[in-house]
Amino acid sequence: MRTSQFFLSTLKEAPNEAELPSHKLMLRAGLIKKLGSGLYTWMPLGLRVLRKVEAVVRDEMNRAGAMEMLMPAIQPAELWQESGRWAQFGPQMLKMKDRHQRDFCFGPTHEEVITDIARSEIKSYKQLPLNFYQVQTKFRDEIRPRFGVMRAREFVMKDAYSFDVDAAALAKTYAGMYQAYSNVFTRLGLRFRAVAADTGAIGGDGSHEFHVLADSGEDALAYCPTSDFAANVELAEAVAPAAPRAAPAEAMRDVETPKQTTCEAVAQLLDIPLQRTVKLIALVANEQLHIMLLRGDHSLNEVKVGKLAGLAEFRFATEEEIRAFFNCPPGFLGPVGIDRAKVRLIADRTVAAMSDFVVGANKPKFHLAGVNWGRDLAEADVVADIRNVVDGDGSPDGKGVLEICRGIEVGHIFQLRTKYSEALNCTYLDAEGVLKPMEMGCYGIGVSRIVGAAIEQNFDEKGIRFPAAMAPFTVAVVPVGYQRSEAVKAAADALYAELASRGVDVLLDDRNERPGVLFADMELIGIPHRVTIGDKSLADGKVEYVARRDGTTELVEQQAIVALLL
Ligand code: ATP
Ligand code: MG
Ligand code: MG
Ligand code: MG
Repeated sequence: MRTSQFFLSTLKEAPNEAELPSHKLMLRAGLIKKLGSGLYTWMPLGLRVLRKVEAVVRDEMNRAGAMEMLMPAIQPAELWQESGRWAQFGPQMLKMKDRHQRDFCFGPTHEEVITDIARSEIKSYKQLPLNFYQVQTKFRDEIRPRFGVMRAREFVMKDAYSFDVDAAALAKTYAGMYQAYSNVFTRLGLRFRAVAADTGAIGGDGSHEFHVLADSGEDALAYCPTSDFAANVELAEAVAPAAPRAAPAEAMRDVETPKQTTCEAVAQLLDIPLQRTVKLIALVANEQLHIMLLRGDHSLNEVKVGKLAGLAEFRFATEEEIRAFFNCPPGFLGPVGIDRAKVRLIADRTVAAMSDFVVGANKPKFHLAGVNWGRDLAEADVVADIRNVVDGDGSPDGKGVLEICRGIEVGHIFQLRTKYSEALNCTYLDAEGVLKPMEMGCYGIGVSRIVGAAIEQNFDEKGIRFPAAMAPFTVAVVPVGYQRSEAVKAAADALYAELASRGVDVLLDDRNERPGVLFADMELIGIPHRVTIGDKSLADGKVEYVARRDGTTELVEQQAIVALLL
């Protein structure tokens, strides 16, 4: 590609609305253009990046045995009514009516559609396992679209859905997807971490998120540098003390409420450092200790935490029941004044009662949620564990001290089990001729979010430093004096032709601009390798090579430059 024939549209300054470096740089480099809130056009340069990300994702999905398909973006309401999510999904779902007044939505995700396909197409165990994926446009009416393509309303997701005969087979498929995801992010040159995660509005048992590590990330991650423990701190949705109470139908409301994470709320309540609170929650995630303190009115929190805690059943006790259970005086459960001694009292009594319960739904109170523990732990150990966490510095799996970092969620995998297959009656006949619900998994990657997340990790004062695998072009050939020097023009054209013939994504910057302008643009848009061709070095048979990542510059023999770039 020659810049004279390509559409480059760079800006010196970013528009005011952009807060994060990646958002600013994507606008300045002309990768995207805003149409409306959370709606972006991928300009030709940006689309090249997006397509490269997609190519790596497709390649790893295909290798893992998944099959690509493409489902409609618009989905009929009936399927969502069958699964129960039409009423449940909340305002993130964009609903619409057609000319016959029938209800539809613009799909925020595709579990219902794929389950509908599977129930009519798959009849026998002999057809399983199957894993389908698509790279497709989703719409979620995010409460606060921001950070450009990272939290957009319309965005590109790769979503895959697997069908297996039983839980063991699903676990194997899930492990394969975990590996495929690790491969994708490694190949894209990203620093990432997989963490134990909450299952959110998608549901199911057991899930991991993949996070690109960046200080600007919206999620806090707790990890142990000396063991493989890692979990999303925000295991429950944000607890927003001042936010309006969720009506049951809106239980799956937006995450983007004024942010106080559960951890932060707990830390504040207990007056202990966030790290220690994280440890409490980490123990829950790690299924070593199932105790969790929550404040707030968010019924979903209990369900999520309870799921993590492996509780079979949830019920919401009344305040009177709770008081009776703990033998608490009136006022004890008030929103303020909970001291650590009382917290320990709760822990001890709960442990003593050895009971599973959840309290306080829809009550603007502090409540204790999800109490249970591994059967192999002695009661005294559990009490000691809680004390340790509240008082001490140990980590959740006993193998090191927990640290916290921030991340951007770029992938999320779930073992759905039979949540959707049961709701939609998606069954198969096993070898004995018995009808069984299929075991499902689902696996998402935020393809468009990855572009922003990658930039968040790879930029400097000059602009973007794209990892090679997703750069819009791999090599920029920048002639100094293309229009006036025959020698420069000939050398640049020859190098361009040779690289192109070898399949290198090369951009020849043949614009009639000052060299400083050309260099600045190539640096801003993040091309990993630059070859500068000028009369002076050409006279010595040399060209200049500059690596975008670290700025290293060297004069290279003209004959050697192709080999260096390949
Ligand atoms: P988040 O917590 O950031 O809102 P999510 O947990 O709601 O994301 P999933 O339902 O897990 O998202 O969807 C799979 C992937 O789609 C996410 O891991 C993320 O990379 C991407 N994604 C989700 N919402 C958006 C969005 N609004 N804009 C861009 N990408 C998104
Ligand atoms: Mg979300
Ligand atoms: Mg999430
Ligand atoms: Mg998610």
